[in-house]
Amino acid sequence: MTSIVELHLCDGIAEVAIFNPPNNTLSHQLLTALYSTLEQVTSDPAVTAIVLYAKGPSFSAGNEIVELVTSPHPPSLLDIVSLIENCQKITVAALHGEVFGGALEIVLACSVRLARADCQLGLPDVAIGLLPSAGATWRLPRLIGVDRALKMITSGRPIGAADALQCGLIDALVEIDLAAEAVAYIEHIGGCAYSPVALDGAANQSLNSDFFMTWRTAMERRAGGQIAPQLAVDAVEYGLSANLQMALGREAELGQKCRQSSQSDAMQYAALAESVCGVYGDPTTASGAVSVVGIVGAGTMGAGIAMAFASANMHVILVDVSQENLQKGLQAITTNLQRAVASGRMDSEGSSACWFNIQGSSSYDDLQNVDLVVEAAFEDLAVKQSIFAKLDRLCAEKTLLATNTSYLDVDAIAAVTQRPEKILGMHFFSPANIMPLLEVVAAAKTSSETLATVLAVAKRIDKVACVVGVCFGFVGNRMYSNYSSEANLLLLEGAQPWQVDAAMRDWGMAMGPLAVADMSGLDIGFRARQMKPDAPTNASFFRPANMLVEEGRLGQKSAAGFYRYRNRNRERENDNMVSDLIEREADRLGITRRSIDGREIQQRLIYTLINEGARILDQGIARCAGDIDVIWINGYGFPRWRGGPMYHAGQCGLQVVVDGLRGYYPSPIFDYQQVSPRLLRMAEAGENFVD
Ligand code: NAD
Repeated sequence: MTSIVELHLCDGIAEVAIFNPPNNTLSHQLLTALYSTLEQVTSDPAVTAIVLYAKGPSFSAGNEIVELVTSPHPPSLLDIVSLIENCQKITVAALHGEVFGGALEIVLACSVRLARADCQLGLPDVAIGLLPSAGATWRLPRLIGVDRALKMITSGRPIGAADALQCGLIDALVEIDLAAEAVAYIEHIGGCAYSPVALDGAANQSLNSDFFMTWRTAMERRAGGQIAPQLAVDAVEYGLSANLQMALGREAELGQKCRQSSQSDAMQYAALAESVCGVYGDPTTASGAVSVVGIVGAGTMGAGIAMAFASANMHVILVDVSQENLQKGLQAITTNLQRAVASGRMDSEGSSACWFNIQGSSSYDDLQNVDLVVEAAFEDLAVKQSIFAKLDRLCAEKTLLATNTSYLDVDAIAAVTQRPEKILGMHFFSPANIMPLLEVVAAAKTSSETLATVLAVAKRIDKVACVVGVCFGFVGNRMYSNYSSEANLLLLEGAQPWQVDAAMRDWGMAMGPLAVADMSGLDIGFRARQMKPDAPTNASFFRPANMLVEEGRLGQKSAAGFYRYRNRNRERENDNMVSDLIEREADRLGITRRSIDGREIQQRLIYTLINEGARILDQGIARCAGDIDVIWINGYGFPRWRGGPMYHAGQCGLQVVVDGLRGYYPSPIFDYQQVSPRLLRMAEAGENFVD
């Protein structure tokens, strides 16, 4: 039987292999076994060198989130790091696959790091509101330079082996047999006494006093409101002029501050919710591999969706009825790929592979044998029904048919086919090649095999997928619609567009709702509202946005919407004309205007989300509150450090939300302003949406 840590001793070299399937996460059991093995070999005078490597698909995905949440028991990462660093032997880490978090912290203490070309190395701690530990904020800047280290630590994003070699994070690339090549490397360097890590360089870098201030400002811009990236900068700055012992103390102190903050709780919760959201039914029932995907409609969404599949090495056939639009779609893909390479998001090989995986076509006949079709044509039920009827006649029996509709009734689309069990929604977000979220819409007759297959595909294309039920706008857009409606109502009641947007950005949203409306196009929302079966009849419903559309102000695309856009950079400018227009309309509607502060704006918009989330849960449209939070964090710019609307409700206290809603809407004018029975019930019972 394979044990969690294996030891092989040969000619004074101890080969230590970790094996904790599936991802070699650093569970307490693994750390204990690793510590005990390292203790044995580091104290053995016959051992002159130690090779640390792993079996399985990766070196290690890092810490176990669940164990991070509970209090850690010894041995700690620092105990292991100290053993390695102080052992006076050559220590070689031979790496492959993922080397994340605590795993990278451990190997930073080794004398030498070798890595296979598939290796990804990263310190993702800030993504869950924490700091790297065990001296990583002291060692990494010394190893790869301060700027590079800060990039890795504050972004949490991993770097590949080639980059790691170039910046000095690894010493050499190895091919296949990690342990054997590490042993050969030790022989090659002649067993010379390696210092633990050659760590003097960066401390001597002359950094002018503005350097860290610039980093802090950049963090405020990129990760506004988050404390972990700011404290990471503090830790690195302090560590540069401190010895290891002092730096460890400071790093631990700052790490503790993060650990005790509500932000890290929220972010760890979000990571856990993401790790379970795509788990639905029995994954072994997936009905076969998807290797060829058809896309119908080569517009904004179709082109992005094609890229998402093609980048994951699936063959894509992109069909459009309009030859002109097909060419535009293919051109958009070329431009996007060029941008992705220029920005470093993709290498040129990946970009070429993606391009060659996409075949444009103007004939549906090319879709006969594909495994999955994603329809991304116009948002019109009749158009979609005619496309699905045609695909149903044409495609092989095995083919799953998905619609990317934003709002429409997937059951009504499934009803025109003879294969309703293979029909579903795949609601991508724009830009589909970049946005991580996918709402997988289960229609009444969608089979569990179909869902399992699509969830497996979602994983391959690197999407965070949540299964949702059928209703107008599903989970995300349904909630967003009320949120946006409240933003419009606030304008009639006296708030200015820039005031609403600033309040929500201050609260942590990536963008304000009115700037988003301008970006997506005011006509899009206008058309969607016209399709809404139960749209409120009250004259104030979305009146400001509707008026702007009537005036031909469609948002960024017409250089005017809630704001004015003068230059090509689409910088927003406040427009008093919009304020005057809204003020006149409020008078006409008999709405008394008043001054509205940021707090009211924030509470009304966020409570509105929570309230609709509760209704969605009541109707079983979302499986659990965690899925709603995942959708909002990954699709709508909700601050991860607040955990999502349903998690945040618990932070406020459900009764506070209920009282808030009642206070703001003593006589609700829209149904959605009524307190949802579920929210009320749970508040009265002292419950939370999230445990
Ligand atoms: P778009 O207008 O940019 O593109 C639609 C494309 O479909 C056009 O190229 C058109 O020629 C083609 N088309 C129309 N009828 C067709 C048919 N019968 N067969 C083949 N091709 C046909 O639209 P879009 O913004 O890409 O939206 C597409 C779908 O995705 C809509 O259902 C929309 O609601 C949904 N969606 C859009 C967004 C977004 O932000 N744009 C986000 C999520 C979902």
